[in-house]
Amino acid sequence: MKVNLDGIHANLRFSAAHMVIGHESCGKIHGHSYIVDVEVDGERSGKFGFVIDFKILKNITRKICKTLDHRVLIPVDSPDLEITSDDDKSVEFTVLGCLEYKLPKEDVVLLPIPSTTAESLSVYIAEKIVEEIGDEDTLNYIDLRVNEGIGQGASYRHYIKKE
Ligand SMILES: [Zn+2]
Repeated sequence: MKVNLDGIHANLRFSAAHMVIGHESCGKIHGHSYIVDVEVDGERSGKFGFVIDFKILKNITRKICKTLDHRVLIPVDSPDLEITSDDDKSVEFTVLGCLEYKLPKEDVVLLPIPSTTAESLSVYIAEKIVEEIGDEDTLNYIDLRVNEGIGQGASYRHYIKKE
């Protein structure tokens, strides 16, 4: 059985700036209002026969969205991005060996992903959620969709390890 959260109605959203390195138009810093949809597949269990408690799933997902909200998302694993300085106050980085950026530390989030496309963000958020849930042996997988605004997005299925 599946339970799902629709990000628009369950308020699983964040607004952030990013760039798609090397892309003709999306290579420049720009922003999106992201919406996250989550679906969890598993067996019903426990006192209430839940697949997973909505409240727990919502809180975990909102917490992750909050870490990304009103930030510039920086993909530190990109082969085309080099962090040249990183201290308490600011982060400096170079993109494609020629574009230089310096941003206040509090405005950015450094993400261990190769890009900040909807595809990569869906993998990142799905893995974070599974980390927080833990290896529940009644759960099979999580489907995570990151929408860039309304009408377009990327989905990723993360299988939950069984003992
Ligand atoms: Zn974009």
